[in-house]
Amino acid sequence: MTYIIANWKMNKTAREAVKFIDALTDYLNNKKSISHHILIAPSTIHLPILSKSLSKSFNLAAQNIAFKDAGAYTGEVSAKMLSEYVQYSIVGHSERRCYFNEDHQILYQKLVMCLQHNITPIFCIGENKNDRDANNYLTIIRQQLNETLMLLDDDDLLKTIVAYEPVWAIGSGNAASLDQISELHTYIRSILFQRLGEKSNDIPILYGGSCNSSNTQSILTQNNVDGLLVGGASLDVVHFQKMIDMLDV
Ligand code: PEP
Repeated sequence: MTYIIANWKMNKTAREAVKFIDALTDYLNNKKSISHHILIAPSTIHLPILSKSLSKSFNLAAQNIAFKDAGAYTGEVSAKMLSEYVQYSIVGHSERRCYFNEDHQILYQKLVMCLQHNITPIFCIGENKNDRDANNYLTIIRQQLNETLMLLDDDDLLKTIVAYEPVWAIGSGNAASLDQISELHTYIRSILFQRLGEKSNDIPILYGGSCNSSNTQSILTQNNVDGLLVGGASLDVVHFQKMIDMLDV
């Protein structure tokens, strides 16, 4: 089953979010069958209201999760709290790493929090432009995995989703090329395979970075691409629906 995940980031008021979800629900209700995982990651503040009108055809995800379970962490929202509303959470998005200094140690703790509360982490990795230009990107990707995800035990590792998001492609309007996507997804799969063997195929590897209705199909035809993490193009419900339709082609 292919994944398509809408990461709304810090966009949409409650009213706008509900309008989107109502429109998406109507649209999906009119489809004969839905054989994909469709997830919406709104701002945390909208999760309670959106979870009330949630249809069976899609799920909600958190965009972020606290690195501790409870206590004096002003402004944070714990995995335990979020688990009342979501079964998934994005962890380690490059914007969190960059603007909030989330390092490997914090991200590992966030992964553990998710798994302790039965939340599937959608773990983002990706090199920045300097690493790409310096031809250093494979080392960076391996390091990002080794210092976080690969520290989990096998059972937990198998409960995760990986999202490869080259930082230079995010929000740029230019997705990575198909060759670049293919190289990285094959590389990530090989790292997981070295650890888990055939079972590693159970871990979905998603691509994110300027996906839209024009490149959805071609990206999804690449080996080891099990879905998409979509930012900007997920904000417009009609555009997002168009992308969902393309998963069937
Ligand atoms: C993202 O930030 O996760 C993302 C993929 O953004 P965009 O689609 O806008 O590049």
